Amino acid sequence: MSELNDLYQEVILDHNKNPRNFREIADADKWADGNNPLCGDALRVYVDLEDDKVKDVSFKGSGCAISKASASMMTQVVKGKSKDEAETLFDEFHRMVLGTLDEETEENSLGKLKIFAGVREFPARVKCASLSWHTLNAALHGDDSVTTE
Ligand code: ZN
Repeated sequence: MSELNDLYQEVILDHNKNPRNFREIADADKWADGNNPLCGDALRVYVDLEDDKVKDVSFKGSGCAISKASASMMTQVVKGKSKDEAETLFDEFHRMVLGTLDEETEENSLGKLKIFAGVREFPARVKCASLSWHTLNAALHGDDSVTTE
């Protein structure tokens, strides 16, 4: 378990310092704002679709290390996926951090996103980790903003 914690720390620090796809997409097909007032995380997620596939996805904004690292990894994982696959991942990620999906025994396609499983021990952090996913989901459904409470 401590090995997983070390990996978690390392990945969070790396993505926080050097977030992937941290940029605007000019003329993005879809975008949405996500706010987590409890922590002060505020992200905007941009999505470009092509034939129902996520051709490009990015984010901007400010927030704590967990929200930024989670958004960074979300963009890496979702890029190139279909809208349906992205929604499935959102659902699996959400259930994992809430503790209703056991990522080790139940079938899922979370892969490296599993390092976020530990946040379920910290209810206040669940919203940080899932904010970018809620925001992506809002963008895909054409909502302009989402607030996690
Ligand atoms: Zn946060």
